[in-house]
Amino acid sequence: MSDYSDPVDSRRKFLKLIGGGVVLIPLTGLSGCSGEKESPAPAPTPEPAPAAEPEKAAEAPVQEAAPEPASSGDGTGGLPKLSEDDAQAKALGYVHDASQVDGGKYPRYQDGQACANCALFQDGGEEWAGCSIFPGRVVNAKGWCSAYAPKG
Ligand code: SF4
Repeated sequence: MSDYSDPVDSRRKFLKLIGGGVVLIPLTGLSGCSGEKESPAPAPTPEPAPAAEPEKAAEAPVQEAAPEPASSGDGTGGLPKLSEDDAQAKALGYVHDASQVDGGKYPRYQDGQACANCALFQDGGEEWAGCSIFPGRVVNAKGWCSAYAPKG
């Protein structure tokens, strides 16, 4: 005979099955709590918002150092000093010190004449300065050459 012949017996079996399930469900639900207390997950704490930094004042742009004027500090402006041995200097009898002028060779030379008071001297108040006769070089304010021309 089949099991379904006795409805009461079937119901008992069904309730037995259901009852067992009812018992199992709570047990499985409690199994997580058996003996070990599960610490509750910490409530997520909101990260404190970083303090809004005040807008940094626009930093002044770094400026590169201005190029220094070409100057060696001795008034030459970075130009080479005319050498007394320069061919053109020799041809014109240039000397750094007018007191060394060979008066016999350059009779037009007179005491007191010097580059500093020559019209061709590009006087800047320095010991050395340019001269239009010797471009690209500087001559000494105390110098002299046969191209001397008194300042007007
Ligand atoms: Fe000096 Fe005048 Fe001669 Fe030039 S031209 S080297 S400034 S004396």
